[in-house]
Amino acid sequence: MKSARKGHKYIFVVGGVMSSVGKGVAAASIGAILQDKGLKVTAMKIDPYVNVDAGTMNPTEHGEVFVLNDGMECDQDMGNYERFLGVDLSRLNYMTTGSIYLKVIQKERNLEYEGRCVHVVPDIPLAVIEQIKRCGDKNDVDVVIIEVGGTVGDYQNVLFLEAVRLMKFENAGDVLLVLVSYIPALGVGGNELKTKPTQHAVRFLNSSGLQPDMVLARSSGSIDAKRKEKIEYMCGLEKGSIIAAPDVQSIYDIPLNYEKDHLSDFIFKKLGVGSKKENGLTEWKKLSDNVKHASETVKIGIVGKYFDTGNFVLSDAYISVIEAIKHSAYAQKRKPVLTWINSKDFETGEKQVSMLKDFDGVIVPGGFGKSGIEGKIQAIEYARVNKVPYLGLCYGMQLMTVEYARHVAGLKDANTTEINSKTTHPVIDIMPEQKKHMAESKYGATMRLGAYPCLLSKGTIAAEAYGTEEISERHRHRYEVNPDYIPQLEKAGLVFSGKSPDGILMEIAELPESVHPFFLGTQFHPELKSRPLSPHPLFNTFIKAAIARKKRQ
Ligand code: GLN
Repeated sequence: MKSARKGHKYIFVVGGVMSSVGKGVAAASIGAILQDKGLKVTAMKIDPYVNVDAGTMNPTEHGEVFVLNDGMECDQDMGNYERFLGVDLSRLNYMTTGSIYLKVIQKERNLEYEGRCVHVVPDIPLAVIEQIKRCGDKNDVDVVIIEVGGTVGDYQNVLFLEAVRLMKFENAGDVLLVLVSYIPALGVGGNELKTKPTQHAVRFLNSSGLQPDMVLARSSGSIDAKRKEKIEYMCGLEKGSIIAAPDVQSIYDIPLNYEKDHLSDFIFKKLGVGSKKENGLTEWKKLSDNVKHASETVKIGIVGKYFDTGNFVLSDAYISVIEAIKHSAYAQKRKPVLTWINSKDFETGEKQVSMLKDFDGVIVPGGFGKSGIEGKIQAIEYARVNKVPYLGLCYGMQLMTVEYARHVAGLKDANTTEINSKTTHPVIDIMPEQKKHMAESKYGATMRLGAYPCLLSKGTIAAEAYGTEEISERHRHRYEVNPDYIPQLEKAGLVFSGKSPDGILMEIAELPESVHPFFLGTQFHPELKSRPLSPHPLFNTFIKAAIARKKRQ
């Protein structure tokens, strides 16, 4: 096996005891700390799913599908990495069981194994390692952080643990293994922290030939010195290797918390590297202060549909939207208060759209399919007529166009052909190019995916917000504003302030400021590019409009 290129270090992050302990945010926070010390970092996610990418997964089951610049549809944790590291990742940063097997099988079909038997072990782990090293090389980083999805003890990530073992074996000194574990609290008041499940998680790793170097101890409160010593003693871990990871109000406090327990000192010692500069996490401290001092609120209503599916975590389906709102609100020292409104309730009469008057701003986020659509259109109409700041994201922009066509341009049964293929006014439709793609493709790949350039018209809210006339934003959709209807819509007052460079695709629709304080929709997903340390310009302008409404009321 080719040994690691000199200079690259690898930090694997695995989870113990149970899922949802925040491995992704932990991996991202480690990266943010190292980056603050001047190291160049990238982060990768290994998902145990057989799905080749996340494009075929339902957001109500798996959470949001995050899209990268190159169009890769992946897990929401990739969003955490981009947000914490402030970098754009590529498809090389993501893999699943499915994508790795696919690669190995394709290689076998191409006779690249030169006639030898191809085995699950070591060929699958070797393919995993190959992609990790390629990712490190391509990004030319000091450190690659690799999160292994699932929990140690799951059958499905055994081959990935084997990859970690092989990498440690071949590149001792360059590889660090971090276990993010959970320390449950027992007793009245929950003050008895139990380390046994963590001990068992470490034993499981041991039986896979692995010893963790560091444990991030997730718990409701901070783990005390005695419990730390116990884990060190029982698991044979070095002093200083247990880092407290208590529950936090804001995930952006996590890098600061880890450093309280000297995480970077320990990592540097183990990997034999040093910091290149000392920023003292100043920007993260500033953000943390903004969060703490945000006493006044800004109330945002999110009108969507993935809200009625039993016990899944709602926030996961819209995580980038939620984070983008937070970034912009915190930057303006406001505490965002988000309310989820099921658009179907407007259709059944369970709720009246007039309830939206109590919000400082309304968002209709992305979505697919028919359900709850008329309720969303009602909400958009209310926001337009009553001058409630409105931001439409993808479907939210398409439905804003439908609403405007119906109620202002006089095209009564205007619709998107996603809902009514027989409408007499298909203001949102599939472009002929896309139809051709769909006819040719058996699987996925029927959407406009990833980053595309967009030109903004001078003097519009969009151009003002971005402060530039050429932008690039990420897409994930099939339908577009139908070019045949643009003259009519423009005549009725809708401004298409962002267009593809060839002028054919409408990327942003808005109403002039003289008509409405903020009524704007984007065909792309700006939320995918908002970061805590550099909030997105459109979200900033939307939140400012929402704050201004609050002041007026
Ligand atoms: N359903 C719409 C389309 O496919 C919008 C998709 C979205 O909101 N991401 O074009």
